[in-house]
Amino acid sequence: MNASFDVIVVGGGVTGAAVGYGLAKKGVRTCIVDAVPTFSRASRANMGLIWCQSKALGCPPFVRWGFASSRAYGALAAELKEASGIDTGYAATGGIIPCLGEEELAQRALFIDKLRAETEDGVYPASMLSRAELEKKLPKVPFGPEVSGGTWSEMDGYVDPLHLIFAFRKAFTRAGGTLLAGERVSAVTPSGGGYRLDCGERVLECGKLVLASGLGTRKLALQLGADIPVFPNKSQVLLLERIPADVLPIPLLGIARTFGGTVMIGAAHDQAGMDRDLHPETLAANADWAARVWPELARKRILRFWTGLRVWPKDAYPIYDRIPGHENAFVFVMHSAVSLAAILERTLPDYVLGQPLPPDAALFTLSRFADGDGFKGSAASSPHATAPAKAEAAS
Ligand SMILES: Cc1cc2nc3c(=O)[nH]c(=O)nc-3n(C[C@H](O)[C@H](O)[C@H](O)COP(=O)(O)OP(=O)(O)OC[C@H]3O[C@@H](n4cnc5c(N)ncnc54)[C@H](O)[C@@H]3O)c2cc1C
Repeated sequence: MNASFDVIVVGGGVTGAAVGYGLAKKGVRTCIVDAVPTFSRASRANMGLIWCQSKALGCPPFVRWGFASSRAYGALAAELKEASGIDTGYAATGGIIPCLGEEELAQRALFIDKLRAETEDGVYPASMLSRAELEKKLPKVPFGPEVSGGTWSEMDGYVDPLHLIFAFRKAFTRAGGTLLAGERVSAVTPSGGGYRLDCGERVLECGKLVLASGLGTRKLALQLGADIPVFPNKSQVLLLERIPADVLPIPLLGIARTFGGTVMIGAAHDQAGMDRDLHPETLAANADWAARVWPELARKRILRFWTGLRVWPKDAYPIYDRIPGHENAFVFVMHSAVSLAAILERTLPDYVLGQPLPPDAALFTLSRFADGDGFKGSAASSPHATAPAKAEAAS
């Protein structure tokens, strides 16, 4: 079946699903085409943290962008529940980064002070916790002897990533959108001011095109003459047996209880190209860190482990832009898309429809790569680096 749409979104991970839903609910005739993920599985492999704190020193707009998404999440979760009938498991729990040793605690405090100094009003919604305060927040977690305290932000939270995508997709189709799941776009060609997409036996046409195809974006954009600097960043995740909800009601960066009650441990960052092999030494290092934070975890059964490839722009900040030379083709790639989903859904559809990007997103265009590497600093936060500004991330 050939078909024509106002907008086609290639990619139905969290980014494409959020943008597609936002468009469909505005009455725009929208199609999402989403291939069965092979390598590009970030939206299915992640930890579901809505993580805002201790990120992006040197880039206040990204800090504000993340907090804005966090503030919008409650309304989004309620709207999706209403529109799709699916509970995303969203919980405004706050979040904690545990620290091992006094040096790490001092580094974290310094990092938050620096982030605070970069705000316009001197208010940064995160604070330090002593060990006693940490224990008060999580009285059922017997922390290891090395744990010195941590950082706390009420702006962090949790959402179940699979339920989030399903909710977006169902709400999208209920709003009149067309979802072509399990179909791969193989060719993109400009055609009469819009685009023609080859998709298996089908030919699809659209006035506007959105590439939200994660690590598949580069290949598609090259067909339109643009090299989008986005690369895989590998993580490995361990899944442990279920624990009761009241044991870990607040996620720790790197250790989180899932919607279903299992415990996820994940923090690794490797620039290893498309390698998806499991490396036991990396898993062991993550597990060792988690057991130093919470020794009881060492006695829990491991249910599963997997690798996931993050969608990692060259400087770790998002890319929201038109494809150079293409007024009607857009590219949206980023890590932390789960955290950002609420602000993506709220703002990027208007951008596709011709509005400017919101001020805090306006600098995340491709022009920053004109002289090479993009922004300095890190858009990410790391659970167990002694130098928190390192370009590592668990979320
Ligand atoms: C282990 C791990 C933990 C993470 N933890 C967190 C976290 O706690 N919080 C957070 O905010 N973020 C986290 N992230 C990052 C987050 O998962 C990603 O930012 C997000 O999933 C990216 O979503 P996306 O839709 O942009 O890309 P993807 O999830 O990669 O989706 C792209 C989709 O496009 C499809 N596609 C590609 N090419 C084509 C084509 N030619 N035709 C049709 N379809 C195509 C793919 O099949 C895929 O379904 C984590 C990532 C990993 C790997």
